[in-house]
Amino acid sequence: MSILDWVREDLRDFAGYSSARKEAAGGSVLLNANESPWPTAGDGMGLNRYPQPQPDALVQALAALYATQPERVLVGRGSDEAIDLLVRALCRAGRDAVLISPPTFGMYAVSARIQDAAIVRVPLRVDDGFALDVDAVLQGLTPEVRIVFVCSPNNPSGNRVPTAQLARLAEELRGRALMVIDEAYAEFADEAPGVALAHRHPHVAVLRTLSKAYALAGARIGTLIADPALIRVLRSLMAPYPLPTPSVQLALAALAPQSLALARSRVGLIIEERARIARLLAAHPEVFQVYPSEANFVLLRVRDAARIMRHAGDAGIVLRRPDTTALPGEFVRVSIGAPDENDRLLRCLAGLPHIAEAAA
Ligand SMILES: *Cc1c(COP(=O)(O)O)cnc(C)c1O
Repeated sequence: MSILDWVREDLRDFAGYSSARKEAAGGSVLLNANESPWPTAGDGMGLNRYPQPQPDALVQALAALYATQPERVLVGRGSDEAIDLLVRALCRAGRDAVLISPPTFGMYAVSARIQDAAIVRVPLRVDDGFALDVDAVLQGLTPEVRIVFVCSPNNPSGNRVPTAQLARLAEELRGRALMVIDEAYAEFADEAPGVALAHRHPHVAVLRTLSKAYALAGARIGTLIADPALIRVLRSLMAPYPLPTPSVQLALAALAPQSLALARSRVGLIIEERARIARLLAAHPEVFQVYPSEANFVLLRVRDAARIMRHAGDAGIVLRRPDTTALPGEFVRVSIGAPDENDRLLRCLAGLPHIAEAAA
């Protein structure tokens, strides 16, 4: 079976909007796109011209970064856009479904809701360190499920799905659904098997982003790596000129060798700081548990999340309470900052007087 069997039948041959840039490349007198012939004052990037929909240089640089081929790469406005495109391309409104394992990244459910796709929820095993329950996922797989989202390392719990489990799930899902492995935090993890799995299985797709390890959250550059046939369909569904030229330029600069070396050393520092924070917070009496993380944040199970949020907030430190409404216990997610920011957090929490539980 072809990966296109998972795409909505009404969209398989859809060519999308035919932009001037797509119809005609090259030439030196451009009178085809109703652009201004003059750049605006101070423009050194040629912003009077529409950008290439998928700029060759960026597609190639990202393919090299992720060790894949350009025809497997879709560049979007953040990986958020790729999530949205996948749900819209595969799920018929009111009929098809996606499967997610909460607590996890919120955008899968948001995109599903907007598309009126049903959401099958197969929770992570909280008391087993938020492990993915592969057997339960397979049992929860109704015929309506078109996409299985697996976030690894998972946001907000920080744990990674062991490679053997991902490989097994990929095998089991063949012919049954598209498996999307969200590796937004791969650079902070010990292993990142997503791309290799996608090369082996046409029904496996991978999400990567420049927003986290490459310090470009504001540029909005995310990548989907998938079977070339699926990439072609998604490109036709995208906005005509999705990637602003300044973002593309910044992304290319971030992928130059010197910037890559800097990004790698910063990832190394975050990983060191992650270990330090985990060790020190684990000793705090208000913190019951620090979950082992392979991302640039740690999840804490605490006695009173609202109190910690308030106390940190009073010191100007913003933390996040993940949506764990369905879970027993209270949780706070802490992003790993620069060493001085982490010191401020630790000092602040050291000043939080511990309220002993009432004796049973
Ligand atoms: C941050 C995040 C993203 C979104 O990244 P963008 O590329 O900025 O859209 C995707 N998935 C997960 C799990 C994230 O935490």
